[in-house]
Amino acid sequence: MLLYNTLGKKKEAFVPANPGKVNMYVCGITAYDFCHIGHARSAVVFDVLARRLRYLGFDLHFVRNFTDIDDKIIARAKKESRDWQEVASTYINAFHNDMDRLNVLHADVEPRATEYIPQIQQLCSTLIAEGKAYVTPSGDVYFRVRAWPSYGRLSGRSLDDLIAGARVTPGEEKDDPLDFVLWKAAKPDEPFWESPWGKGRPGWHIECSAMSAPWLPLDIHGGGQDLIFPHHENEIAQSEAAWHSEMATYWIHNGFVQINAEKMSKSLGNFTTIRQILQNYLPETLRFFLLDKHYRSPIDFTPQSMDEAEKALHRVYTSLHEARNALEGSKWKHIVLPENILQEWASLPQTFIAALDDDINTAQALGQIFSQVRLVNRLLEDKNLCTSEGCRTLLTEFLKRAQNWDRQLGLFGAQPTVFLSDLRAIRAKRKNLDLVSVTNLLKQREQARAQKNFMQSDELRNQLLSMGVTVRDTITGQIWDME
Ligand SMILES: [Zn+2]
Repeated sequence: MLLYNTLGKKKEAFVPANPGKVNMYVCGITAYDFCHIGHARSAVVFDVLARRLRYLGFDLHFVRNFTDIDDKIIARAKKESRDWQEVASTYINAFHNDMDRLNVLHADVEPRATEYIPQIQQLCSTLIAEGKAYVTPSGDVYFRVRAWPSYGRLSGRSLDDLIAGARVTPGEEKDDPLDFVLWKAAKPDEPFWESPWGKGRPGWHIECSAMSAPWLPLDIHGGGQDLIFPHHENEIAQSEAAWHSEMATYWIHNGFVQINAEKMSKSLGNFTTIRQILQNYLPETLRFFLLDKHYRSPIDFTPQSMDEAEKALHRVYTSLHEARNALEGSKWKHIVLPENILQEWASLPQTFIAALDDDINTAQALGQIFSQVRLVNRLLEDKNLCTSEGCRTLLTEFLKRAQNWDRQLGLFGAQPTVFLSDLRAIRAKRKNLDLVSVTNLLKQREQARAQKNFMQSDELRNQLLSMGVTVRDTITGQIWDME
């Protein structure tokens, strides 16, 4: 498997430090608000990587942390007159809730920063003893960036570039504007822990070093692209300065999510939470949308792109549904499928796997799934072939492959009838359509057809069409759908 390593800036063959075992650490959320679509992307991308590694037979140890002490958590707690721990727990629970809906599997270990205070203090002490960190008169501890000559290697920035942009905020007692905080002295009314440097709490970057230490050597360290600098750059500097060994071999980063071609930011007010999106779309639609582009490319969240994702899912599930229906037939003709169909059918799973092994190219892997769906549809539409034994074998295999897509991509695992009915319901909700009146009209039409009153049946069909509902007549009755 090839993975793009931000450290080497190229795709590299993935070889874990210990054969057969993989340790992966992904930076999690700061628990002070509901997760937005950027969090969803990172979680879904690393979920697919974890699924792939397990599928390949690696004994994966997946760690994803929670930052449960931070300025933003404290600020929210103050604003809402709540306990800071309660704020953190609220949003950690919300994270789990959202991710469960998106079919993101839990990490094996989900440590919280506050569970690692002694280890964080130990790291600070080691760095101070080695002269790579220092304590200020007010009790802050800073990392001395110039004591780490390779600083900037991950993000490709030089110290000269960085010094030009560095600022010292009034009140900070840094020796050098480049230095970053490891331990913060507590301000009055702030939560704190006793430390050799007085009452205080950990800075953000140091927690990930402390929480990843039990799982060394890390094969993969991941997160969103926005974490490359300064977060991961600082993690590398402080960890490697303290441990005298490499922090992680492969640094994997997923791309940004834009909203209507604009960068997502609190100031623009276009922070779209997962919860908001799931009021209008099924969770699987969002997951599909996130995987339909390569994980390193930026993606643009728009209503149109979500509608397209929805249509694509609808195509796959309709095919799965019809394949199941066809398999309920009992008379199968002794016809062998044409060689070209059989060959194409046999080759597609290999290209699916090749796509995933080429830096987790889910966009291409999904393309392969659509080729399989097209082939199945072609067969189902062929009156001669669709009742052949060759077709039965192929359709059975199609349903089996779908289980494999679910296992690896976390997609297409629902019961087709359940998915299609949920999709109709959410589309109806988006259109403010009254499902009861749709059902009534469908019933009336069914009766009209039973009485061979085709004029009334056509009128009812048009009435439904004007509401955006299409009706198709099949052997087993009418099937309705909506755009
Ligand atoms: Zn981190």
